[in-house]
Amino acid sequence: MEKKNIDWANLGFGYIKTDYRFVSNYKNGAWEEGYLTEDANVVISECAGVLQYAQTIFEGMKAYTTADGRIVTFRPDLNGERMEQSAARLEMPVYPKDEFVKAVLKTIKANEAYVPPYGSGATLYVRPYMFGSNAVIGVKPADEYQFRVFTTPVGPYFKGGVKPLTIRISDFDRAAPNGTGHIKAGLNYAMSLHAIVDAHKQGYDENMYLDAATRTKVEETGGANFLFVTRDGKVVTPKSNSILPSITRRSLIQVAKEYLGLEAEEREVFVSELGDFAECGLCGTAAVISPVGKIVDHGKEICLPSGMSEMGPVTKKLYDTLTGIQMGTIKAPEGGVVEVE
Ligand SMILES: *Cc1c(COP(=O)(O)O)cnc(C)c1O
Repeated sequence: MEKKNIDWANLGFGYIKTDYRFVSNYKNGAWEEGYLTEDANVVISECAGVLQYAQTIFEGMKAYTTADGRIVTFRPDLNGERMEQSAARLEMPVYPKDEFVKAVLKTIKANEAYVPPYGSGATLYVRPYMFGSNAVIGVKPADEYQFRVFTTPVGPYFKGGVKPLTIRISDFDRAAPNGTGHIKAGLNYAMSLHAIVDAHKQGYDENMYLDAATRTKVEETGGANFLFVTRDGKVVTPKSNSILPSITRRSLIQVAKEYLGLEAEEREVFVSELGDFAECGLCGTAAVISPVGKIVDHGKEICLPSGMSEMGPVTKKLYDTLTGIQMGTIKAPEGGVVEVE
């Protein structure tokens, strides 16, 4: 298989059309057997449930070329499981996780020529998603759905080196205590757009959202979970029912405990203790971990001791170990890495 002629190292994070995408339609109470198509366009009713009432969910994952030339993906079972949970919360039919994994592997295989080579820093981003496709005008769940998977090659996240982020505590709330913050749904992103545009205007990279009920506890950013390191080297991640269960964050906890012998704890994290931490990072598929250098709480600056020029030492170890597992240079935990064959 010949790779596409792409300048992998200089790719950004944008949509590039690849050759194939997977489609399966849900009709009369059942999923049809899916297929690959070269048609990148979706044609649906002007009154489709997704267009009127935002009935849509998605996942995000990556395919990598390992040091020994295999194409792999990391924990696709967990993405499939999470998509099942997202579907249930929005009254959408579940696309079974085993079928989900098959569809993802099939789509990656079909677009093998777009999986960036080992060492380029680039990866193939994989986007499974589902939406209500038939006409819905009275408020109710759609009867018909489409599940799709497309891929797009994306460049190295830390192009030109790691730059720790400056984030602000947001006055906007992301998710209600018993709302939809824990599922991966477009609706959680639509409401975050104003807050992120405003943050950028004010010179911040990201918003730190607090719990909507008391505004005293750390939740997450618009698209990444927080990870903190205490001054005595313990890893802490916020616990809340309204944050998205990040697979990267859960994997980093496993790495901390099983590979690095660190203590790791999921617990409530209060704004009042932010000044006590040694390191802070944002975890998600896109970057694995982006270090945070400064948190601004309404003009009051909390500067992390790890500084504004590099990743903190524990963050760096976590990052190197998890990316090593993904790229095949460090032995993966049981079920961690799945090969595309
Ligand atoms: C996708 C997402 C994350 C990161 O999850 P990963 O599984 O690690 O990619 C974190 N927060 C939100 C709100 C997300 O949508």
